[in-house]
Amino acid sequence: MKLRELGEFGLIDRIAARASCNSGVKIGIGDDAAAIEPTTGLVTLITTDMLVEGVHFDLAFSDPVSLGRKSLAVNLSDIAAMGGMPRYFLLSLAVPHHIAVEFLDGFMVGLLEMGERFGVSLIGGDTSSSGKGMIISITVIGEQSPDLVVTRRGARPGDLICVTGTLGDSALGLSLLKRGVRDGLAISRHLDPTPRVREGIRLAEARLPSAMIDISDGLLADLGHILDLSGAGARLFLDKLPLSADYLEKCSATGEDIYSLPLSGGEDYELLFTAPPGKIATVQSVLMGIGSGCAVIGEITAAGLNLLTASGVEYTPVEWGYNHFS
Ligand code: ADP
Ligand code: MG
Repeated sequence: MKLRELGEFGLIDRIAARASCNSGVKIGIGDDAAAIEPTTGLVTLITTDMLVEGVHFDLAFSDPVSLGRKSLAVNLSDIAAMGGMPRYFLLSLAVPHHIAVEFLDGFMVGLLEMGERFGVSLIGGDTSSSGKGMIISITVIGEQSPDLVVTRRGARPGDLICVTGTLGDSALGLSLLKRGVRDGLAISRHLDPTPRVREGIRLAEARLPSAMIDISDGLLADLGHILDLSGAGARLFLDKLPLSADYLEKCSATGEDIYSLPLSGGEDYELLFTAPPGKIATVQSVLMGIGSGCAVIGEITAAGLNLLTASGVEYTPVEWGYNHFS
């Protein structure tokens, strides 16, 4: 079906018909504004992220269901990085006329599936046509006890640096997609990332991280944000970087520097956090308790950023990370 036949309000009705509301929603989609009941004693965490066709996604690569899941996942990842519990989200869409209604249906299936998985309800948004390219803007609202919220600014010299999951798969997946490959682990990590919501909440509830961020622009760029805001430096041990078997196999086949994508590739959506050495055993057991884990990849120092290979040789990265305007 053509979007023209459905119209703006037809599309909104189609979206509203599929959305379900959790208990905090007093007024959902359909009025001029949504109304939500804040949980007593908790602060509200609010984040927004935009996905622009041609910049963040390519319709030649992404199937609509994965695109829907990823659009919410990248936003949930920011709430996770604060140790927050995501609750509600708003969806603003700018859609070019050529996009089929069936594509948007698939997008909504993926989006609402990701929402249900993490107990997050769609409570509103905005809908527009677009002269060029699809734009997806999502705002997620979360909650947490004010004393449990984890920021980027608490890293102290001596803290250890930890990361969940593995690094570099997503960037490898994107480069494989550009070379015409259409499936495999790296590609699904790029098109369909898992936000580390449970990990973030558990770590925060146990008061373990001194600072935390999610890796969207690459390990070095995002670690750089923690270091800037904490007024600290770091030493990273490259042989400790968590790399998947799939990554190692595909990367050694291309003969590329194996550290380049894990350090600078971006879109891993893993959690990067710091914690005092005495808390690391608890970090591991808390994460193991939810079937997850983390790797200790370095330590916080007073200043500077040093990357060391297994033999203790200083390593200079080819790139420092993704920057939209450079
Ligand atoms: P207004 O013109 O008053 O801004 P809209 O017609 O844009 O109202 O929206 C009507 C209702 O539909 C509102 O509750 C709004 O939040 C919701 N809505 C609009 N677009 C979307 C969307 N893409 N996803 C979810 N809800 C939407
Ligand atoms: Mg509106």
